[in-house]
Amino acid sequence: MRQSQLFTHSLKELPKDESSFNAQTLMRAGFIEKISAGVYAYLPLGLRVFQKIEAIIRQEMASLGAQEVVLPSLTPEEPWQQTGRLATFDVLFKTTGSDKKKYVLAPTHEEIITPLVKKFVQSYRDLPVGVYQIQTKFRNELRVKSGLLRGREFTMKDLYSFHLDQDDLNAYYLAVQKAYFQILKRCGLLEQTYLTFASGGAFSQYSHEFQTVTEAGEDTIFICEDCNLAINKGIIKEQPVCPNCGRKDLVERRAIEVANIFKLGLKFSKAFNFTVADAKGQRQPVIMGCYGLGLDRLLGAIVEVNHDNHGLIWPVEVAPFKAHLLDITTDPKGHHQAQNLYEALLKLGLEVLFDDRRQTPAGSKFADADLIGCPYRLVVSDRTIEQDSFEIKRRRDTEGRLVNFDQVNTYFHSN
Ligand SMILES: [Zn+2]
Repeated sequence: MRQSQLFTHSLKELPKDESSFNAQTLMRAGFIEKISAGVYAYLPLGLRVFQKIEAIIRQEMASLGAQEVVLPSLTPEEPWQQTGRLATFDVLFKTTGSDKKKYVLAPTHEEIITPLVKKFVQSYRDLPVGVYQIQTKFRNELRVKSGLLRGREFTMKDLYSFHLDQDDLNAYYLAVQKAYFQILKRCGLLEQTYLTFASGGAFSQYSHEFQTVTEAGEDTIFICEDCNLAINKGIIKEQPVCPNCGRKDLVERRAIEVANIFKLGLKFSKAFNFTVADAKGQRQPVIMGCYGLGLDRLLGAIVEVNHDNHGLIWPVEVAPFKAHLLDITTDPKGHHQAQNLYEALLKLGLEVLFDDRRQTPAGSKFADADLIGCPYRLVVSDRTIEQDSFEIKRRRDTEGRLVNFDQVNTYFHSN
């Protein structure tokens, strides 16, 4: 993509009225725009990152055999009454239509998915079933100050699973854990993220959260360095102890919950009278699990974890472009060389942001490249052209090196 044609651009000043690092930096780099508190728009660069995260999630959900649907955000009030959550869910966004009918802008979808799956699943032979969506959700938060880490409108991947017995749910639950770690690895967050024991609330003794360590996080966790597990401070009244090995000297850290998984048990199948016939023809209530993952949150956490003083440093799989090509030459011959390199890179199948802006000083182009944070920066200058080459530098490195124009193919195939 040619940067001269991008309708957005980076901002010189920090956006006012935004205090979180992740949103501030993404706004300054032209990835997102704040529409109101806790409500953000994705701009072309930001959307590219968002869609890469979506693609990773879809691949990992497919590996679980989960099937994708899209449920509405605007949901009738009745099923929320049926489960009792209309009264107990503290940040439920409620609204009334001009027909006087009452609606909930859903923050989660057990109330919708359970009766829907019930309609099609009648027998134990139809189980297990895993159904997920990537969809817009709402929370009527009183305060929002963490940028993409906590929005009033946000996108979740929510997966629901349905089982005949507890063993089957347990096996599925472990498979989802594995898939989540695979997603986190591909998003560059594996090292910083801990499987964390949290209160199961009404559902079970424990649920699990995936907590990514960052000072910007809203939660406090205690990490067992032996087991690579953590426990959420929110559930413990006494000295924290590792739930796996009993170790007591745990490390306290701030963290952001990027995902959570629950064994729901019978709560929702009972509320909607969802049973299936077992092998003997007896009706059995269906056992459920649910597995959430916040996409904006994941994106915000990637930013909090992967940056330096100059800007963003995207992990390769979620970068908006793999390479940022800067033309800082001063004559038509130079522009022509840069253009040729751009086309050669596209032919190699690389995603390239080409800074072909003619009126922008070289210093601003370098600053932009650091701020936007593509994994590779390629520079064509009058000096490199004299040596029939361009300069290439990884975003995390301080020194670049010269590569001959005719070696571009070899370079990108071996790196
Ligand atoms: Zn331990």
